[in-house]
Amino acid sequence: MHNRREFLKLSALLGLAASGLPQWAKASAKVSKPVVVSTWEHGQPANAAAWQVLSAQGSALDAVEAGVRVPEADPLVRTVGLGGYPDASGKVTLDACIMDHQMNCGAVACLQDIKHPISVARKVMEQTPHVLLVGEGAKAFALEQGFTEENLLTSQAKADWLAWREGQKATPQINIENHDTIGMLALDTMGNLSGACTTSGAAYKLPGRVGDSPIIGAGLYVDNQVGAATATGMGELMIKTVGCHLVVELMAQGLTPQQACQKAVERIAARLGDYQAYQVGFLALNKQGQSGAFCIHPGFNYALQDNSGSKLLDSASLLGAKV
Ligand code: ASP
Repeated sequence: MHNRREFLKLSALLGLAASGLPQWAKASAKVSKPVVVSTWEHGQPANAAAWQVLSAQGSALDAVEAGVRVPEADPLVRTVGLGGYPDASGKVTLDACIMDHQMNCGAVACLQDIKHPISVARKVMEQTPHVLLVGEGAKAFALEQGFTEENLLTSQAKADWLAWREGQKATPQINIENHDTIGMLALDTMGNLSGACTTSGAAYKLPGRVGDSPIIGAGLYVDNQVGAATATGMGELMIKTVGCHLVVELMAQGLTPQQACQKAVERIAARLGDYQAYQVGFLALNKQGQSGAFCIHPGFNYALQDNSGSKLLDSASLLGAKV
């Protein structure tokens, strides 16, 4: 008969003690923190701003807000905030959401004339009992909170829109190139996760269209016990599959961030017949500070910053197997 000590020894040898744990927890108890990841190349300067907060022992929540404000304010980033592509009628309408380590979240959709929708989303989270404010109501709330109104349609964006309107029928331009939302996920020195996502949405979208980016579960999700995920690409596909919640749930079942992102893209491909016409990219970060990404078409990349420095990484893809 085995005594307890022998049983534990045997269990360890057989790997039984760890069998109920997720793969990432089995692999290592070591946590890499702080760390911040964000979508696309414009994620690098955004991560640098987030890193200033994280490396000074600031919170992941403050870091992601500070980080995504960088592309929001940059007129050269044509898919977020100031300088973003307008809708089919020439109006810049912005979507954003933010989520912290305690399941608090806030969002705005179809917000006009306010440069930093992410900060308005944070105010929704902290100053109201609601999660999502839209359109005129979101703008009135922002003004009441002290945000200032400004024209976000830059002369370059206006010229592009006019050229599009000349050459095209008035249908939204939706292809694999015009998606460049910033989604950012951070793990702070306290071991807490938060995320933010902000965009001007699909270029020349139908007026009133809202994508995945302000929808908790679709464009962003954070579960502080497990991990966080964000998305970029054709928002309708993420909404139909509640994509970021799916990625986090897959991590909760034991998949690594990389495996979870891949499985979510495969789910989209298995369920939605026209998936090849669109780009979708998921980015995930788990509680141990491990990250991963996966997309439909090659071309999606993401920025990572941790104690070893800053990197721009290519995502693996379903149709290109590019790593
Ligand atoms: N996901 C965004 C949307 O559908 C677009 C993007 O990623 O650029 O609005």
